[in-house]
Formats: sequence, structure tokens, C-alpha cells
Amino acid sequence: MTTPCIITVAITGSVPRKKDNPALPVSVAEQVESTQQAFEAGATLVHLHVRNDDETTSSDPERFARVLAGLRKHCPGMIVQFSTGGRSGTGHERGGMLPLKPDMASLATGSVNFPSRIYENSPELVDWLAAEMIKYGVKPEVEAFDLSMIFQAVTMARDGRIKAPLHVQFVMGIKNAMPVDREVFEFYVRTLKRLAPDATWTGAGIGKDQFTLARWSLELGGHCRTGMEDNVRLDRDTLAPSNAALVARVAELCAEHGRRPATAAEARKLLSLPAASAG
Ligand code: ZN
Repeated sequence: MTTPCIITVAITGSVPRKKDNPALPVSVAEQVESTQQAFEAGATLVHLHVRNDDETTSSDPERFARVLAGLRKHCPGMIVQFSTGGRSGTGHERGGMLPLKPDMASLATGSVNFPSRIYENSPELVDWLAAEMIKYGVKPEVEAFDLSMIFQAVTMARDGRIKAPLHVQFVMGIKNAMPVDREVFEFYVRTLKRLAPDATWTGAGIGKDQFTLARWSLELGGHCRTGMEDNVRLDRDTLAPSNAALVARVAELCAEHGRRPATAAEARKLLSLPAASAG
């Protein structure tokens, strides 16, 4: 039997609402509604950034708490992952919402150039975020923007700074970082399997090649990420009307590859997360 696919939906991200992404959910109510639709379309993990009332990016734990409460109510069992990315504030501010104990949080294990800035993750900050995640029982999703970040994650798991088994997301397609490249992608997968055989992984393609990366991930036994944070188009000519539409597209790709979207309970088991508590 093939492994069911955990579909992650990155609903919002940090780019402003614009003409090419009018359906981007920004308010708390929009975020909860958009996630619920994506959940019903087959997503079982939501990657979350939050905004202030003026739509600027926010690191306010109170805002995260409000969205989390809505998601717990409307998306039973769904895995909630908070972003600790650079747009959620600076320095330790980026982990200020971890005491809310989401199921997971993103953890970049190194620095990388982004389109117009450095995504800065100093060793001190990475260690601090990882320690906070252990303290609050939050599973990290390692964001690997290049090969060194995979090695760093494996080292951290070996010396106890990250609780094993690892979950790693290979990110490709960000301008100035690693492009979408099949040979490198296969090397990532092979390297992770060699160094951490019990690890799980997701392929995340940013921008126009998102579904290419989804296909490769399905083919090689990994999991998929989609959502308006990463890609706003269903194809070259069609804007995605919702996060759910992008998730539905990935669910179709699952079927084409003899896979199916995981249920929330299956996704939790695959990621070694505790079963969702009832109510
Ligand atoms: Zn993000």
C-alpha cells in the first residue's frame, strides 16, 4: 500500500493582498474560513502567518491565538503549524507565539538570500527557536533552502536539539535561492534518507513550478505543499480562486500518482504527532 499524502496548505504568507491574489485570506475570519475550505478539499496541515488589522504582517501572539482557536473549532484534527519566518517579527519575537503550543512550527536551520532580502537565521536564533519548540512540545518542520540546512537539522536531531523523527521541507523556486531542479531534489531526498532514515519530507515549490514539485514529491514518496503563500495560479492563465482550489489540484495529482490525500488522523500518525484531543 502506498503512503497517503499529507497536503500542507500555506494559506496567507507575507505578501500583500493584490490584484493577482484577491482571494488571499487576511482577517482572522477569512483565515479560518479559507483553511476550513482547504481542509474539506484534502489539506491536513495548515502553515500559518498572521496579519494586523491594517493587513501588515504580524508576530502578535494574541492574533495567532485567535486563529488557532477558530481552526481548532472548525477543522477538527487538522495539524496547525505556525511560521517562525522572518516576516513574523525579528529575533526572538519570531517565537513569541510558541507558548500557544501549536502542533508544529517552521524552523529554518540556516540563512539564505530571498528575492530582496536576507532570510537571516543565526545559529543563536535557530538554537533558541528549537529549544522553545522542545519546551512547548511543538514539532519543528525544518525548512531546507539548501543542502547544508539538511545536514544541520540531522546534527541537531542527533544531539537532541530537535526531537526525532525529523520532518523536513525542501523549498525550491525562490528567486536568489535554490531553483526547481530535479537532480538536486533527488539528491536532497537521498541524502535525508541516508542520514535520517526515519525522517518524513515535503516538497515545496514556490511560484510557477509548484505543481512540478508536487508531482516529483508524489512520485518519490514524499508529501506536498500548496497554497496562496507560494503560488496564486492554477495554471499559466488561471488565477486560483481560493486556497481550496489549489488543494483540490494537488488532490487530483495524488490520484494521478496512485496516492490519496491523508486523513488528519493519518497525517498525525505519519508525523509522529499525538492524536487530536476530542473537543
Ligand atoms: Zn510561510
